[in-house]
Amino acid sequence: MLSEKAIGIKANRPALEMTIEWGDGHQSSYPFSLLRAACPCAQCRGGHENMKTEPDEDIFRFEYSDKPETRVTTVQPTGAYGITIVWEDGHDYGIFNWHYLRALCPCMECRQKARIKI
Ligand SMILES: [Zn+2]
Ligand SMILES: [Zn+2]
Repeated sequence: MLSEKAIGIKANRPALEMTIEWGDGHQSSYPFSLLRAACPCAQCRGGHENMKTEPDEDIFRFEYSDKPETRVTTVQPTGAYGITIVWEDGHDYGIFNWHYLRALCPCMECRQKARIKI
């Protein structure tokens, strides 16, 4: 699916925001703190049984904050299916796959679509 193929990723550290350009032309801007709140690793989700293929809706009620935990150090490709984000506090367990990231797009259009699906 084109909508789940990232063709460009930019981590804008001064703006504390990561931008992904998708194969279908859509562009997503993720505040770093949202990405950290949504970290899909077992540790952040509170156990393997809580790991999901799509983020919980209540993640979007997060509060913006700027701390070492919410600052991106590097973004590394993980095979062809996603990225690993390394955070300033050393956390690097979360593999964000394209499907998850697209489902995490905080724009109004995507949030509305997600709500209709539920
Ligand atoms: Zn994590
Ligand atoms: Zn979107």
